[in-house]
Amino acid sequence: MPISMLAAKKAGSGKANLIEVALPEVPSGHVLVHVRACAICASDLPEWNAQVAGPGKRGEWDADNPGMTGHEIAGDIVQVGDAVDAGRVGESVWIDAIVGCGRCEACRDGRQTLCEQVSIVSQGFAEYVVAPARQCRPIPPDFDYPIASLIFDMVGTPMSAAKLAGIKAGESVAVWGLGPVGLGLVQGSIIAGASPVIGLDPVASRRSRAEARGAIALDPMHPASLGRLRHLTQGKGPHVVLSSVANQNASRQAFDSLRLEGRLVTVAGFPPAGGEVRKWVSGSWGCYERDWPEILEQVTSHRFVLDDYVTHLFPLREIEQAFDIRGRDLEGSFKVVVTNDQT
Ligand SMILES: [Zn+2]
Ligand SMILES: [Zn+2]
Repeated sequence: MPISMLAAKKAGSGKANLIEVALPEVPSGHVLVHVRACAICASDLPEWNAQVAGPGKRGEWDADNPGMTGHEIAGDIVQVGDAVDAGRVGESVWIDAIVGCGRCEACRDGRQTLCEQVSIVSQGFAEYVVAPARQCRPIPPDFDYPIASLIFDMVGTPMSAAKLAGIKAGESVAVWGLGPVGLGLVQGSIIAGASPVIGLDPVASRRSRAEARGAIALDPMHPASLGRLRHLTQGKGPHVVLSSVANQNASRQAFDSLRLEGRLVTVAGFPPAGGEVRKWVSGSWGCYERDWPEILEQVTSHRFVLDDYVTHLFPLREIEQAFDIRGRDLEGSFKVVVTNDQT
């Protein structure tokens, strides 16, 4: 094993340096993962663009944090701590990055995202990362590392939100925002039997992706789009709105578009209060552990299709270009993944 590794460290707005740091210690119950792919999440971008890093709300955004925010990670287990089966060395894994304490009521019920001591495995823009052994799950046989790095947040997060919405077959669903999470919300809705599924996004290439998955896609900037959404939903609005838009105006429009007694689940932005209006609103973050078995069934069988998400691969030394493309080119980029393939 090497004793040091390269890791990206934030150096001002839109900049990172690769620095050499000691290989992290591997505590009991943990493993050391050689990172083979770490995807850029939309949630990484505000931090990347800020002049000074963190500290973030859960400790993962820290100015002194080599490896930065990266939390969509796949790689190989190269070392195990005490109390971990040594046979796991060599295993190829993706990391379920939301870690609960394992002891509280929520954790024991498989709802670890609600744990009061929740933490996130991050610092993935580096050659190695430490993670609790139980969060490292085997990569399905026909998945490469970049695609496997998307399972945690690009499958778990939207599928869990769609499940929370309790979509019934034949209900109409509108998905606001068709980025990588939004496309997952479209797929989750279709898998749940929703019809029609209507996606809204101003970016043409994102609408095309949603159409290819079976959605009707609308441009919310077009003046007729809200009327068309109403028309497609019996003049009442959709039964369910799933929203991945951070923009407050769009969040408000998404809420307003919902029919009375309809349900809104949002994975980004703010659920706007409805006053006297009878609509159900919930936030959703990440994926309950207890939901993974049925969600993994959808992705390993390729009913949830991830194959075409990765548009760009960059080696770690080109991390600035990776973030630049992801932040600037919404038409041309979808998932941008940083790799360590030179080693
Ligand atoms: Zn993410
Ligand atoms: Zn807990």
